Amino acid sequence: MKERTKASLELLYSISRELTGELDLRELLQRILQLTLEAVGAPTGSILVLDERGEVTEGAIAYGGKVHDHTAEQLRDTYEHGLAGWVVENRQAALVENILEDPRWLQRPEDNEEAMPRSAISVPLIAHDRVVGVLTLVRRMAGHFTEEDLALATAIADQAGIAVSNARLFRAERERRELASTLREIARTISATLEPQVVFQQVLEQLERLVEYDSASIFLLEDDYFRPVAARGFKDNDAVLGLRIPVASDALGVEVFKTRRPVVVGDVQKKPAWTHFEGLEESRLVRGWIGVPLIVRDRVVGMLNVDSHKVEAYGPDDVEVVSAFGDHAATAVANAQLYSESQRRVQAMIALAETARAITGSLDLEEVLQRITERTLRSLEVEAASLALLDGEGDELSFRVASGRGASQVIGVRLQRGQGIAGWVLEHEEPLFVSDVRSDERFFPEIDERLGFETRALACVPIRVQDRTIGVLEAINPRREALAPEHVELLMGIAGLAGTAIAHAQLFEETQTARQRYASLFEDSIDTILITDLEGVVTDANRRAESFLGLEREALLGKNIKTLHEADSEKLPTRFGDLELGETLSYDSHAIHRSGRLLPVEVHVKRIAIGSSSFLQWILRDISERLELAELRTDLTSMIFHDLRSPLGNIISSLDVLQATLSPEDETIQSVLSIAMRSSRRASRLVESLLDLNRLESDRAVLNKTRGAIGALIAEAVEEIHPTAEAKGQLLRMNLAPGLPAIEMDEDMIRRVLINLLENAVKYTRGGDQIGVAAARRDNEILVSVRDSGPGIPEEDRERIFDKFTRVTRDSRPKGIGLGLAFCRLAVEAHGGRIWVESQEGQGSTFHFTLPI
Ligand code: ADP
Repeated sequence: MKERTKASLELLYSISRELTGELDLRELLQRILQLTLEAVGAPTGSILVLDERGEVTEGAIAYGGKVHDHTAEQLRDTYEHGLAGWVVENRQAALVENILEDPRWLQRPEDNEEAMPRSAISVPLIAHDRVVGVLTLVRRMAGHFTEEDLALATAIADQAGIAVSNARLFRAERERRELASTLREIARTISATLEPQVVFQQVLEQLERLVEYDSASIFLLEDDYFRPVAARGFKDNDAVLGLRIPVASDALGVEVFKTRRPVVVGDVQKKPAWTHFEGLEESRLVRGWIGVPLIVRDRVVGMLNVDSHKVEAYGPDDVEVVSAFGDHAATAVANAQLYSESQRRVQAMIALAETARAITGSLDLEEVLQRITERTLRSLEVEAASLALLDGEGDELSFRVASGRGASQVIGVRLQRGQGIAGWVLEHEEPLFVSDVRSDERFFPEIDERLGFETRALACVPIRVQDRTIGVLEAINPRREALAPEHVELLMGIAGLAGTAIAHAQLFEETQTARQRYASLFEDSIDTILITDLEGVVTDANRRAESFLGLEREALLGKNIKTLHEADSEKLPTRFGDLELGETLSYDSHAIHRSGRLLPVEVHVKRIAIGSSSFLQWILRDISERLELAELRTDLTSMIFHDLRSPLGNIISSLDVLQATLSPEDETIQSVLSIAMRSSRRASRLVESLLDLNRLESDRAVLNKTRGAIGALIAEAVEEIHPTAEAKGQLLRMNLAPGLPAIEMDEDMIRRVLINLLENAVKYTRGGDQIGVAAARRDNEILVSVRDSGPGIPEEDRERIFDKFTRVTRDSRPKGIGLGLAFCRLAVEAHGGRIWVESQEGQGSTFHFTLPI
């Protein structure tokens, strides 16, 4: 007994060792059977394994001490009706003493009783608490098995159960791996091709390796139909591709589409939803069916389905595998969609780039417009394209160019703002896309009627420049597919380019005219004009520059402006770049003629922008004539004054002599004489002042300074002026501060300054008014003021009147020559004093001057 147990244990050990090494289920079963037969010493037996549903999937049969080939079918019978079935059902081992007397044994009528075995043991293979198979041994003689045999067989069966379960797991694992590798292969195909058709075909081919099917197909959802795009296993696969399943039907595929989940059917023929297709015999043969949805970005785009001619052909595992393949097919669809989308985008980009090249290639507005419509026609593949721009007033669109059908007639057509689709787009400043114009009330059919053209579909977008809509671009009647949103996008892209191109062309046109205008101004200017860069290098010169400087244009270009004139003016900035844009700098200088001759010029330098760069514009105004004239005038005047001075002096001294010799009683003679004396003195003063003016101006004046009292001078001046003022009925008032100090001055000059100011006061003031003259000390100077109640001096003239030859221009005023105040200023300044005027228009003026003490 012990011996036996020991032997059994050894046997079990070796069996377990052998079994754990074997992972191929079929081999394993054969091996288990073989080992058990040997161990128990039975010549005949069988082993069978069951799947989760309790169906026999694999097994082995042995007789004559040898394991033989078999089919699962052969074993199914015994299992379903015989002893093995009982064992499984009862989850316990059975020992049959005599087969003939045991109802658990399957008695087949054809069995030969003589040849039949008599005793049997049958034990369940249990793994993880589940019956995974049955091991049965038989012997020819009745009652030939002992409890011990049963125990041994049970022990072996326990081991075998685990081994079977492991082998199963391994097989499942291998299948999974196969599935994985198949799927990987498909994935490779997907990434290698963007042709979904190739992927679909491969999905169907590879799927067959894992899921048995008679036919399989892939459908895609198109508008309102499911359309087969790949079919396999049908007699005529191409015929399948011609089918259409309306989404609105209740076909099985539609259920998949609606539930978005796989649908598995045991027998489609029993389903009313099953569709029989005319001319597709297979549809009558199909029983088992799986349909899985193809989902792309959360949207069902189609379905993958497999058909089997067997009822209940598919279980959950199959659904899983088909789903995995479905996912791949969906990926292919997604990729293809992405690809065609990106293709379309690429096409649009190319079209845009080409358009950009075409329309920016020209700056001629008409040509630019023409190119825009031509590109639109070509890029969007439409029958006609047209472009309308706003007219001057901005409320009417006028068609400027068109391409394609009816192009020539459309030009010149006008639409009001808000009229028709173009008018709508103009008003709303947004793109509009109308797939059927007849059903859109914005459409304005009159133009079509007039032109004999039929507009069906149309896309219209605004053309904008900066923030302004300047027109619209239309694409009419697509040639092939319908207009799609991306067409509108493309059209908008073109319109965007068009806006810029039109703006450029318009700007160019404007600059061209401006340039031409400037060019003629530049060329025909009577002044020398040179353009230099900021370093002073000449880049352009006008005709006058050539003749003035004695150099040809070519010779001038490249020369530095500094070599063309005496550029040592203090005003000239060290770096021309320091000049602000638009700022002008002026100074007098001499241009250098080629011969070396110096030509007096007035230089005006201005920084200008040409395009995006800065340049300097130099105007050299020839002032030689002006200078010559001025010189002539100075010479002439000083000559006249000089020649007037001595005869005037003679007249005055003669009058003095006359006055002394003539009787003082004769009033008439005396008054005539004094008039003659005053007038001559006035003339003499004028001559003196003019002579002084010249000398003071050229710094040649010699002041004949002596110490004297300003009060005395004022009194003399008042006395001199008194007769004139009196004649006009004006009152002269003198107000001298007491204790004014004596000062150093050229008395003759200061007297003339005072007389000048008083004369002006008398001259510009109406009769009956008061004129006041005052003198006071103020710090280190004496302030003299001459006040009148005349018309006053406008603010803007208060400084100017001290310049030579300036007069306040008012018609009603008495006129002078404008030299008096100029002399006064020079004279006062020569004494180190200042002169100015305070005035209120209409109220009078007060002239002040100071003299240092
Ligand atoms: P003239 O008197 O010879 O024109 P002035 O140099 O003395 O030349 O004066 C210049 C201008 O100033 C005059 O033409 C006149 O318009 C204005 N002016 C001078 N003094 C007065 C004044 N007291 N009131 C108003 N305007 C004056």
